[in-house]
Amino acid sequence: MSDLKLSHQKTFDWLQNQQAEMLAKTIKWANINTGSGNYTGLMSFADMLRTEFSCLGEVEQIELPERIMLSDTGVETSHKSPPILRINRPNPGKRSVLLVAHYDTVYAINDSFQTCEISDGQLNGPGVADLKGGMVVMLYALQALQKSGLMDELGIEILLNPDEEIGSPASGAYITERAQYHDVGFIVEPALADGTLVGARKGSGNFSLRVKGRAAHAGREIELGRNALVHLMQVLTEIEALNGARNELTINIAQIVGGGALNTVPDMAVGRFNCRLNTKPDSAWFTQELQNIVAEYNQQSGYEVSLFGGMTRNPKPATKANRNLQNFITDTGNQLAMDVAFKHTGGVCDGNNMAQAGLPNVDTLGVRGGSIHSPNEYMIIESLTERAEFLALILMRMAAGEFNYIRDVEKKR
Ligand SMILES: [Zn+2]
Repeated sequence: MSDLKLSHQKTFDWLQNQQAEMLAKTIKWANINTGSGNYTGLMSFADMLRTEFSCLGEVEQIELPERIMLSDTGVETSHKSPPILRINRPNPGKRSVLLVAHYDTVYAINDSFQTCEISDGQLNGPGVADLKGGMVVMLYALQALQKSGLMDELGIEILLNPDEEIGSPASGAYITERAQYHDVGFIVEPALADGTLVGARKGSGNFSLRVKGRAAHAGREIELGRNALVHLMQVLTEIEALNGARNELTINIAQIVGGGALNTVPDMAVGRFNCRLNTKPDSAWFTQELQNIVAEYNQQSGYEVSLFGGMTRNPKPATKANRNLQNFITDTGNQLAMDVAFKHTGGVCDGNNMAQAGLPNVDTLGVRGGSIHSPNEYMIIESLTERAEFLALILMRMAAGEFNYIRDVEKKR
């Protein structure tokens, strides 16, 4: 048993009594659609979050740049992004923590999965695990820290971002920038159902290719046409062949759009793919290979090939600083009679952005749950208070100076 827990028993008792309220809040939040593309839904949820988090400090709104996306018809369109919500409580000379949660989900406004249901100790609903339940955990853990009187022994910055599920195209740079100023980072992405946390993560990139060709009548003068769809498929076949060319490099060709009338040579085609890889040198290598392939297919007369997007998440390797933080988290879990294990994954999140800035971080401190990004997404209800207690004790121990800090890269002041 942790000494800190014993000396702050009243705070932990308070937290245990919040279970019903935490569940009600998770349901209320999950019932609001915040698919990454639902600007109106995200804006009204952001309003609600501003009120909900105001007990922790002044909530600022950080406006984000518009993001340029390639439409299925090959047109570049710009999209307004909802803001980052930010609470900043700097405390010079004290350990400082960056806490991040995303308020978007993968479920679009027209998805059939929009509401919650409870059965067998589980809550099934859109975003309950990933990560609205985690955001509730963060809110209550921080309130517990406040009640314990230890909040002022830490510097704390909280960022709630609107676009993690599409690779944080608008918010990622801001998170990476802020990550340079802290000692550790925590994110409340879901733990696995058995409580296992994620250690190292691969890097990920999202790319779109646009091929412009030349239209022609398929019967009268097909020789004058330049078939954009066929050209795109050839480019994509070369890219697909890079699978496995570096250790655990994977490429998923995900979408091809183009063409129409059967008697017309298609003059426009758009293809999209994702790649996952392990190291920064692999990332540089892959990016160069793509450019070479695109240049080669661009040289062929009558075609114009353009590449959009890029590596949105750098790999999050198991550095010394990260392992040190993981040991501290494991030790804290043990003090609560929890077994804590870490495993590697190909999945990515804003923990990758923190890692890019050299910030040691653990990014799965939210609820226990599973089947995320599917209509079966669930969280284990009792994990709300369990994980809030876990995060609260982690923060309290840091505030009390029980964490021996190692950072791979010196932080900025
Ligand atoms: Zn998530």
